Amino acid sequence: MICSKCGQRAIVSQRYFGLHLCQDHFVQDFERRVADTVQRNDMVKEGERIAVAVSGGKDSTALLFCLRRILAKRDVELVAVTVDEGIAGYRDDTIKAARDIADQLAVEQHIVSFREEYGYNLDEMVPGKKVAPCTYCGVFRKNALNRAAKRLGADKVATGHNLDDEAQTIMMNYLKGDFERLMRFRPWRAQKGLVPRIKPLREMPEKEIALYCMVNGIFTESRECPYAPLSLRADVRDMMNGLESQFPGTKQSTVQGFEKIAERSKGSYVQMDLAACQKCGEPCVKGLCKACDLLDEIGIKR
Ligand code: SF4
Ligand SMILES: [Zn+2]
Ligand SMILES: [Zn+2]
Repeated sequence: MICSKCGQRAIVSQRYFGLHLCQDHFVQDFERRVADTVQRNDMVKEGERIAVAVSGGKDSTALLFCLRRILAKRDVELVAVTVDEGIAGYRDDTIKAARDIADQLAVEQHIVSFREEYGYNLDEMVPGKKVAPCTYCGVFRKNALNRAAKRLGADKVATGHNLDDEAQTIMMNYLKGDFERLMRFRPWRAQKGLVPRIKPLREMPEKEIALYCMVNGIFTESRECPYAPLSLRADVRDMMNGLESQFPGTKQSTVQGFEKIAERSKGSYVQMDLAACQKCGEPCVKGLCKACDLLDEIGIKR
């Protein structure tokens, strides 16, 4: 297999574009596509401070590395925020990896933990609960990130969500019949107390992100979170991977198809002004925010 651009040995085949790329052209192509996503969606403005959520997994490691490169000539400050959920046998390794990449890139790093924020680790919160651990984890992590970003004076929060995550989220909500959830923040508008989120890797396939980490020597082999197989996402991921290998481009078309539906449904879903949570002041639809609601449900006082 040879590179479609220069004839050198190719290291990746982009079946959906019908291209093969060598290492140099792959890295160039990857960074150009991420820069294009950032620019096309006006994700970053001059003078901004961006809190990058760095878990130490491959996606967020690639995100920090790539943003550092593509924004190097711009007046933009990056600060890494790592959330320690408290998951035994998993998080310690990834936190070390997050520290290493922040040190390597000389990016200021802040670690916030569930224990400091809520008084308990995720491992202590979830035993015997009806809801899947990922539900608690996702809600508390978003809440902790938003609070940390505000403390750090960040203008945006950047997360490492990739094309696979986006396609899975759309499919999961289709399967649950929860179209409204997908439309809730469309079109996005500023809400008091909510630091805007950006996803610069949202068009990049997970496999290419892993390869980008590998060729740049920032590859971190981490174990899978022990709770991951318990989630609906794990089944949807397997299904989407199976479809993608049979029909290349399935993930892209899932996301693009949803974008078309969303465009046509604009204005059909009322976007309420968010209120402040009665307990913690974080943005919420009304009454208590989702995090305080879940903390109440598991009997934890904030
Ligand atoms: S797999 Fe679930 S529990 Fe584990 S870190 Fe991700 S969201 Fe949290
Ligand atoms: Zn080449
Ligand atoms: Zn709250």
